[in-house]
Amino acid sequence: MQIPFVSLREQYEDVAAEIRAALDGVFRRSSFVLGEEVRRFEEAFAAYCGCAHAVGVGSGTEALHLALRAVGVRPGSEVITVANVWVPTACAIHAAGAVPVFVDVEPDTGNMDVAAVASRITPRTAAIVPVHLYGQPVDLDPLLALARARGVPVVEDACQAHGAEYKGRRAGSLGDAGCFSFYPTKNLGAYGDGGAVVTHDAALARTVRALRNYGEGEQRYRSERPGVNSRLDEVQAAMLRAKLPRLDEWNERRRRHAALYRERLAGTAVRLPVERPWARHNYHLFVVRSGHRDELAAWLGRHGIGTAVHYPVPVHLQPAFAHLGLAEGALPETERACREVLSLPIYPELRAEQVERVAEVVAAFRPRAEEAGR
Ligand SMILES: *Cc1c(COP(=O)(O)O)cnc(C)c1O
Repeated sequence: MQIPFVSLREQYEDVAAEIRAALDGVFRRSSFVLGEEVRRFEEAFAAYCGCAHAVGVGSGTEALHLALRAVGVRPGSEVITVANVWVPTACAIHAAGAVPVFVDVEPDTGNMDVAAVASRITPRTAAIVPVHLYGQPVDLDPLLALARARGVPVVEDACQAHGAEYKGRRAGSLGDAGCFSFYPTKNLGAYGDGGAVVTHDAALARTVRALRNYGEGEQRYRSERPGVNSRLDEVQAAMLRAKLPRLDEWNERRRRHAALYRERLAGTAVRLPVERPWARHNYHLFVVRSGHRDELAAWLGRHGIGTAVHYPVPVHLQPAFAHLGLAEGALPETERACREVLSLPIYPELRAEQVERVAEVVAAFRPRAEEAGR
């Protein structure tokens, strides 16, 4: 049995009729940029997130970049975030002219260690960006309390957290702004790039709307600030609007797969992901940890099972961010996570027997080092 790490094909078959109808509508109307589809998707996605406003943009990275500018991040600012993610979050901070300041992560969830944030706030801190890693929200109540007391805006990186909940409220709806990616493999994926910023704040939404479209405000051909071209296009918006009603069901299937993995992997050598009691994890990724990660990945590969590492090199050790001057050892839990994490296949269309098969192969794994020691 071959089990790929991710497969988008089955989901397409499932929604093909809706997708084709949505595309046909766009091509018949022949309005391709900032038209009816984007407006209607924004309305539907804002409602889904429990927010008053959503603004469709070109990608998750651009959602973060424009939201950061909209909350007041300026050249020379500092933005506090984490480093056990791929680089887009830090790239967005850099694009806004700011310097990323990394805090370490919790050893069990891999999420931002909220207790470590206070000591990193300086007069230059212009925002905090918690990343809801793998689809589990960061502990937002203490973070928001701290941020509000210090007058620092919070921009949620909810790019992996579509539909996830913190104490019954949707990820992305708790901070000053929430940023989403619709990259094809995300829990709500487009057929190309896309992103959105959600917020309760009308003025902030208006600013992001202007920034995504060369800074043009309500008045045509009047640019209020130098913006960018980063618009969700009509084709992607139409397809996303067709898929959005299915998101909860897809997330529910991921949760069932996660529960089955937990049952079958209990007592094996891998450490299972931890779900906090107040979290509703959307299992964008199901990430186990092992001190023999690379060997385990190779073992699964030999049995026809695809895996991935999210993420092998922390942002502070990427060449692109070498100028920050952080050496190995600067963020011990972050670096440990990067050595140990392994993502197992989890997507809604996976069948229960495939989850069982993956678990069975994981359970049969014996690290070579241990065998030699016997
Ligand atoms: C996917 C992702 C992004 C970037 O989104 P793009 O649409 O690829 O630009 C940012 N942050 C996190 C945590 C992500 O998973």
